[in-house]
Amino acid sequence: MAGAPAAFDFVAPAHWRAIDFISDLHLGAALPRTFDACAAHLRTTPADAVFILGDLFELWVGDEMRERAFERRCVDALAGAARRLTIGFMAGNRDFLVGADLMCDSGMIRLPDPTRLDAWGRVVLLSHGDALCLADRDYQAFRRQVRDAAWQSAFLARPLAERLAVAAEVRSASAARQRFDGDAAADIDRDEAARWLAAAGASTLVHGHTHRPGSEPVGPGLQRHVLSDWDLDRGLRAEVLRLTRDGFERIAPAS
Ligand code: MN
Repeated sequence: MAGAPAAFDFVAPAHWRAIDFISDLHLGAALPRTFDACAAHLRTTPADAVFILGDLFELWVGDEMRERAFERRCVDALAGAARRLTIGFMAGNRDFLVGADLMCDSGMIRLPDPTRLDAWGRVVLLSHGDALCLADRDYQAFRRQVRDAAWQSAFLARPLAERLAVAAEVRSASAARQRFDGDAAADIDRDEAARWLAAAGASTLVHGHTHRPGSEPVGPGLQRHVLSDWDLDRGLRAEVLRLTRDGFERIAPAS
């Protein structure tokens, strides 16, 4: 069994009072209400930081996408917020091709997966979550392939229209889509999560990806907080997990 990946360290400044965690917004032009709620939260949250733990975008196949009308509005909302607070971005399985140009234009700081957050003496391990879904072997093989630097540079060298066509093909073929997203029934592997937590010296994991929000133990003395996905267009679902000195709370987005 391979060892747990080394976590990136992020130490929250002592004067911070709150950190918001969100993930799985799957922003796209087809979901305008979800975008509006996200933009409103970024504009008005009293938190010192918003950490986005993956799948901010429904799809990201290269930073040229930021020149398109909808994505430009996303960049403007992020950049506006980044002038006021810290915006952290961790890649998910939908937006792992976010590159340096988008990071620069949006003012976000990159959070590698996993990141070890130290906030007011509390250590929390942050991950999108897909890398922990070990039971889905097809997805893990696909993930290794598309996270490979050579595969990525070859893919990104293709014209944007071609990359979008490949993505559309994946989304229309259900077998390919399942490989792309992972099995919807899959959950994180608790033993692997325990190994990651032990390696990071943490007892709390925050992750998204599974779209099954909740907080529960994942082993003796270990707990996890699973983030909610957001969908205010087809459903009525959006939630922020906020960490303060007093602990975690689940709140509605600020508006
Ligand atoms: Mn995901």
